[in-house]
Amino acid sequence: MLVDIVPVGEVPAPVKRQASDALQSVYDCDVSVHEPREIPSGAYDEGRSQYRAEEFIELASRVGRGEKNIALTPEDLFYRRRNYVFGLAYLDGNGSVVSTYRLQTSSDGGFSERGSDEIFGDRVRKEIVHEIGHTLGLEHCDNKRCVMNFSPTVREVDVKEPHLCGSCSRRVR
Ligand SMILES: [Zn+2]
Ligand SMILES: [Zn+2]
Repeated sequence: MLVDIVPVGEVPAPVKRQASDALQSVYDCDVSVHEPREIPSGAYDEGRSQYRAEEFIELASRVGRGEKNIALTPEDLFYRRRNYVFGLAYLDGNGSVVSTYRLQTSSDGGFSERGSDEIFGDRVRKEIVHEIGHTLGLEHCDNKRCVMNFSPTVREVDVKEPHLCGSCSRRVR
């Protein structure tokens, strides 16, 4: 399986590398990193000052060369009525998206310098693995340590391990 990472906007090289490494190690797949793309016109919602996640998924599906494609962006995303999302994917779809914007938030929800690069990198890895998991047919897992656990805030993200639990792992093989 090839997963193509599609950077949308300014994504730093170390972030792309961490995303790529995480996918390779968890799914044992090939990973390519696409040339950066512009933010899709029309994705911005002026009223919310945020971007529609669906547009990034559509872009990743359209330009990606992989069986699975994931947009990676520093922009703040929302989906339907949720205030924000770390990422979004459709079950068994071939496109998905992860935003690093809110992953830089500290555990108490405020923006701060305390979130070290290391914590940030771990969060990026987990969310990338999580969204690709959905595209491989995995739904949310009740195991709080599993990367497929639903994590609405970074607090839950930080509790998760960067990989699939045994039962999720068996399901994707
Ligand atoms: Zn999810
Ligand atoms: Zn699991």
